[in-house]
Amino acid sequence: MSDTEAKEATNGVNNQNKNVEDGKNKLAVRCQFCGSKILEKQIGQYMVIEKELPEIHQASNTEGIKKEVIKEFYHVKDMYIFENIGFTHEVDNCKYLTCADCEAGPLGWFDISTKQSYLALSRIVHK
Ligand SMILES: [Zn+2]
Repeated sequence: MSDTEAKEATNGVNNQNKNVEDGKNKLAVRCQFCGSKILEKQIGQYMVIEKELPEIHQASNTEGIKKEVIKEFYHVKDMYIFENIGFTHEVDNCKYLTCADCEAGPLGWFDISTKQSYLALSRIVHK
């Protein structure tokens, strides 16, 4: 297998993503289902972290949802920075971020102890 547990924090710098400019989201971040604006452009700090999240789904029923490991996130330091965001109930000291309009999620997670939010690049669209 290739990249074995590259656990060294590669925070922010090595982005090959065309939607990332100067370590931030080049365009506004929106919900891929309803287009609701989640984050204004140039706000999220690009970051590589490994985090397992349940697969994205549109309803709030999370039973039987598979999980996948996601590696690219936008770090948001303050939840009030979001244009629109919803939160699920608490799971393992975190809450999942969901679309405030259509409830699609998880779009990322919110760490309750540090109050930091992380939005998965693979689960949003840039527009
Ligand atoms: Zn939505």
